[in-house]
Order: sequence, then structure tokens, then C-alpha cells
Amino acid sequence: MFSIIGGMARPRILTDEQRRKRKRTEEKRRRQRQREKNIKIGFCVYCNNKAIPTLKSCFSHWLREKSSFYLGTRTRWKELLDMLESQEYKCPFTGVLLVPGDNASIDHIIPKSKGGTNDIINLQWVDFKYNTIKNDMSNDEFMDYIKMLYERNIK
Ligand SMILES: [Zn+2]
Repeated sequence: MFSIIGGMARPRILTDEQRRKRKRTEEKRRRQRQREKNIKIGFCVYCNNKAIPTLKSCFSHWLREKSSFYLGTRTRWKELLDMLESQEYKCPFTGVLLVPGDNASIDHIIPKSKGGTNDIINLQWVDFKYNTIKNDMSNDEFMDYIKMLYERNIK
């Protein structure tokens, strides 16, 4: 690949494919540098908006990541935003305020382990703690569990 001219290694004339490959690599490195720079100054890694302090992305890019994870595409993030707004940023079970980058998490109403899908109608925003404790229980199972705990330990 290299010819030695005057003791220096010089690249030969590149083929179109090699040129494209080099361009892609340079573009990748440039984006990586931009991401690292943005993280340092508290900006979103995907755009030049301010990042949510606890995250590396801005609110809308955080929603895009959630959309990618739960709905299989980054493009449906507005549906998750609509859901959050229609819930008035509140967990339907605990009533606590849902804060992006803090406790706002997505729950499967019918758990995936019990045949629940990633369909938008099977999703709801809940408090992260609630979600963690609920784990793979359905809403009804979870309420029964809480009732049992209460009756056995508190009542
Ligand atoms: Zn962003």
C-alpha cells in the first residue's frame, strides 16, 4: 500500500472505495470529538442543546433514545412525550412528579414476561422506584403483593 520515496512512507493514489472509507472514518472521528466536547460543556451529545444535567442528552434526544428502546424506532418519541404530558408528568400509582433523567421510567402494563408487547398502549410512565419494585408483576399482581405485605407487616 505504501511506496518508499526518499525514506518517507507515502500513500499511493487511493481508489474510490478507499477514499470513501477514509472519509467515513474521518467523519466518525469528527462526530466522536464533537460528542466528547459536548459532554464536557454540558451539551447534548446529539445536538447543541443543553443536556439534562444527569444525562448526556437533551430532553428530546432522551425521548428519542426511549423511543428507540421501547418502540423500536427513534422517530416515535413524540408519542412518548404526549403520554408524559397527558399524565401531567405524574406517576399514576405514587402520584410523584416524574423528572426526566431522574425518576421518569417506562413500565409495561402487561409485563413482557407475561406476553405484554412494546405497543404504545401497553406502556406507561411511572416512578422509577415503583417500576423497580413492581418488576415483572402485572398491576393486579403487584397490588395483591402490596396488600399482602401491608396486612402481614403493617396492619
Ligand atoms: Zn439533543
